[in-house]
Amino acid sequence: MTELDHHHWMNRAITLAGLCPVVEGAFSVGAVIVADGEEIATGYSRETDPKIHAEEAALDKLDPADPRLSRATIYSTLEPCSERATKSRLPCTDRILAARIPEVVIAWREPSTFVEDCVGVEKLQQQGVKVVELPELAEAAMAMNQHLDLS
Ligand SMILES: [Zn+2]
Repeated sequence: MTELDHHHWMNRAITLAGLCPVVEGAFSVGAVIVADGEEIATGYSRETDPKIHAEEAALDKLDPADPRLSRATIYSTLEPCSERATKSRLPCTDRILAARIPEVVIAWREPSTFVEDCVGVEKLQQQGVKVVELPELAEAAMAMNQHLDLS
């Protein structure tokens, strides 16, 4: 996929992040899963319940056996979590690995606001997932998180 495509789909994810119900103490994140040049699922933080993450919301809309997943790219405005406060749910990093998605594109890495040190990117790379960062879109991806103290 070209850089232009990456920007197109990340901008779509950023638009989705703007749909998140805003709450104190949680990020607003958008995610898009793309395969064969088409959007196959989308999600955003708190879309279907107060604890759901964007990547999780998108993955929940697909059959885990969907063959397109093994050639898909997931765009997330934020680095997928490697630990979560809701212990009963898998971190998004684990969900992405379980779905066998080979490529993850993110706009910004998780600041240590809620989790001491997010290792989502490292964990994905260790498992052979290609991770692309688009720092030039980080500011746009953070725009809907101004309510959080990210310092
Ligand atoms: Zn997550």
